[in-house]
This record gives sequence, structure tokens and C-alpha cells, in this order.
Amino acid sequence: MVTRECLAILNAISLPVVLMDGEGRIKVINAHARALLQGEEPAHIAALLASDQLAFLKAVRRNRHCAHLTTRLVGALADYYPASSRVCHGDEWQDCYLVELFPRDLAVGGMSRLSESRRREASLQRNYVRARETARVALSQASQDPLTGIANRRAFDLWLDQLCKESRQNAFPFSLLLIDLDFFKQINDNYGHEAGDKVLCAVASLLTASLVRKGDQVARIGGEEFAVLLPNTDHRGAEDVAWRLVTALRSANKRAQSAGEASTWVPVTLSIGAASWLPGQPLSSSALMREADEALYCAKGQGRDQAVLLRAGH
Ligand code: GH3
Ligand code: MG
Ligand code: MG
Repeated sequence: MVTRECLAILNAISLPVVLMDGEGRIKVINAHARALLQGEEPAHIAALLASDQLAFLKAVRRNRHCAHLTTRLVGALADYYPASSRVCHGDEWQDCYLVELFPRDLAVGGMSRLSESRRREASLQRNYVRARETARVALSQASQDPLTGIANRRAFDLWLDQLCKESRQNAFPFSLLLIDLDFFKQINDNYGHEAGDKVLCAVASLLTASLVRKGDQVARIGGEEFAVLLPNTDHRGAEDVAWRLVTALRSANKRAQSAGEASTWVPVTLSIGAASWLPGQPLSSSALMREADEALYCAKGQGRDQAVLLRAGH
């Protein structure tokens, strides 16, 4: 239920927020509330309300002092209706909310909108929207390679974990390609670092354009290293795609040469190591990475500008 984006949004909200399901099981404690709880991790709202440590939580127990309000959430939280209790501590209204999320398709009778709360509701909504935008920008920056604009190592690691889980669950094969540019150091040495950077951008675009199937993902995982994830693809498919990428770059080099673009295009080739997981085999993302890396090492050893898949179909 709680996606990574949703968690980021909640953490960006500058209010303590505790999310629970309809039965009071705690799903999320956001960063602000976590700080107040000082390491306590209650599993149920009852345990949280029994806590004597926190003024804001104690206040929640005094239900008659809570004004209820509802608000519409957007984005990652769009499927839920939150019912928030604004907390009164002593005589003062606190900007603390205990938020309960109801799936949208569940009846939410009994949650009345108090007219007094309209202003607060609007401000809470603005708070969520702002926090959501901040979280969206932070997430996209955190997962994007600033030079080429494609996904970075962090995003790749998350994808790989996710793909392992999904493929195991659905018994679909998947494949991984590790790509390393050949003699890239010489490109930097001969043409300069800036020209090297342009080559990296051009290769990133070419790889992206050559992956036509929805779901295939490319990331820059190191200096002149890229990785591709191919869901629902076995070793034969992986080999096809890998060679398609090798030949796409060869063709780009040829095209640039015949078009007389020697001054703007620096010829470069790729070596690719491929590894596939087939249902029924043991699955470990690090073992798969090692296997692809071994294959890549072979491709380098066998003269570069080629794709290798070790132990195909084992
Ligand atoms: P090989 O065919 O064996 O892969 O040789 P190589 O020269 O590509 O490999 P090596 O690992 O020796 O060199 C990689 C070079 O990539 C060295 C490093 O300076 C360069 N590099 C890494 N990151 C960047 C970057 O962001 N921009 C540029 N221009 N160069 C980079
Ligand atoms: Mg390298
Ligand atoms: Mg290299």
C-alpha cells in the first residue's frame, strides 16, 4: 500500500503524521513523528495512544478536543481518503495530525466536514501538494544521472531488486546486460574530457532509442558503464538485444563517417556481458551481476565490440 513515493511525500510533510489502516494497524510513521517518538515503533494505534511520552500523542486521546477534517490527496495517495484528527493540547490547537487512510472505494460515512475546518483543510491540502512536488523533484534528482539524463545506479539497483521479486513471483525470465565502452580512456586522452562526455551522452541516447520494448530499462551505472534490464526476456532474447545494441553503435559510427561528420562524432564501440535468469533457477541479484560481469570480461578479452552471454540457458 505504501509506495516509496508516498513515503517520501509523508516524510517531506513538516507535521507528525501516523498512518494506520481501518483496524488501527500502523502502516507508516513519518520522519517528523518518528523524531518525536524517539525510537518507539508501535505496531498498533492503541500502543501509540497508550504512550505517555508525548504531549501530542496524549492529546490525541482526548477525542472530544479533536476536530475532524477530510481532504483530498493527489498522486501516490490519490487512492486514499485521509481522515485527520487535529490535536488540541491544553487550550492550544496543535498542528499535529493523526491521519487514517481509507481506500477510496470504501464507504467513509461518519466523517463530517466541519465548516470551521475548511480553512485548515485547504492549508493541509496545499501542504500535501507542496510536499508531493518537493518529493517528486527530490526523487527524480536522486535517480537521474546528471550528465546523460538517464537513470543512475541508484535507480538501477531499485529496478533490479523489483524485477527479481516480480520475476520470481510470476515465474517470468529476465535478463541483464552490462555495457562498457571500449578504450574510452583513449577517447578522453585524444579528444579531451568534454568530447568524452559528449560521447557518453550520445551513447545514452542511442541505447535508449534502441530499446523499443516497453519495460526495458537503461541506466548509467558508472563512468563509462551502462546497464540494461530486460523483463520477461530469456537468454535468446538477451543475446538478440545485446547484439542489436552493438550493431546500432557500429552503424552510427559508419553513418557519421560516410556523412563526413568526423569532426563532430567520435567513433566508439561497446562490449556487452549478458546474464539471464530463468524460472526454477536460484535467484540472486548479486550473482546475476557477477555473471554478467564475467561475460563482459570475456567480451573484452575476445577483442571488444561484441556481446557475450556465458553458460547460455544453463
Ligand atoms: P576498456 O576497453 O578495457 O574498457 O578500456 P577503457 O579505456 O574504456 O577503460 P578504463 O577503465 O581504463 O577507462 C575508463 C575511462 O573512463 C577512464 C575515465 O577517466 C573515463 N571516465 C569515467 N567517467 C567519465 C566521465 O564522466 N566523463 C568522461 N569524459 N570520462 C569518464
Ligand atoms: Mg569500465
Ligand atoms: Mg571501458
